[in-house]
Amino acid sequence: MLALSGAKARNESGAKMATAASLGQGHLQLGSIDPAGGGPVAALQAELRRLQVLQPNEPATPGHFDGHTERAVRRMQWFAGQVPGALGPAGAFVARPLLNLGVDGVVGPQAKQFLLQCRQQGWVATGRLVKFQFDDLARVWPGAGYQPLLAGEPGVAVCAREFAAVVSGMDAAAQAFGVHVFVNQVFRIEGAAVNGAVVPPAGFSAHKIGRAIDLQLGMQAGLNPQLSIAIKTAAANTPFGKFRDHAKTVLQCRYGGDFSPSDPPHFDRQILPGGSPTWKFHHFFNQLQYRQALLKPQAIPALGAAA
Ligand SMILES: [Zn+2]
Repeated sequence: MLALSGAKARNESGAKMATAASLGQGHLQLGSIDPAGGGPVAALQAELRRLQVLQPNEPATPGHFDGHTERAVRRMQWFAGQVPGALGPAGAFVARPLLNLGVDGVVGPQAKQFLLQCRQQGWVATGRLVKFQFDDLARVWPGAGYQPLLAGEPGVAVCAREFAAVVSGMDAAAQAFGVHVFVNQVFRIEGAAVNGAVVPPAGFSAHKIGRAIDLQLGMQAGLNPQLSIAIKTAAANTPFGKFRDHAKTVLQCRYGGDFSPSDPPHFDRQILPGGSPTWKFHHFFNQLQYRQALLKPQAIPALGAAA
């Protein structure tokens, strides 16, 4: 019997107290229903809400393992296997090893153990965002219209953990080819207005999962970036052309200048198709992490700690 009681299981007299209902024996899955008066499904739902994979606006029926509950379980499983950390009790990102639970929506013994561990550690689910300082990069600058995402951190940008290598790679490429990179946007908050968009922002944009960057190039530090169309029109043997083609071939980005309609400032490592279950997991957790960071700015780990 797995009881989610932890250190609060005993009161001062040492008697065992039921501070959290048990998740019960066996598997919980779509269609599982508690007996009247509560049971393992209600306990599971409470843990999913505490972990924040079941959101306040998702009306799961108490005691019924319904579609909302199943979706939350899949998120919990994805989080276990794909986010190498959690939001700790103090609001800091705490590293933890990945745990492959599969993503099948069924709660077995391993998933229960993971939920127990999260509760005991005081962990809340979070995303894969990291932040980087423009000051730490040699040739990557905030563009004229760049809007910082984290209050009090004007020189910081936010992207997905796996996209940080693209930013670093662009910095190195800029040095190699003698250009400077001016960033307009990286991660985008869901619902945010897009200033100066070249094309209408995509509903399933790679920016919303932190895997895209809009930029201009220039030949001088902090001065005179060219219009982004210059990236698209540059010949392959020019500095801009070398940068563009390096981003496409070596850094394995898609280039927006190849899209129809054309989006010449844009490079991404989109998860295709946008709106797929994998895309939605990245979107859910990275947008969640950003909302957490608004409350607790230390929640997003810095690029250097993102290994
Ligand atoms: Zn873009």
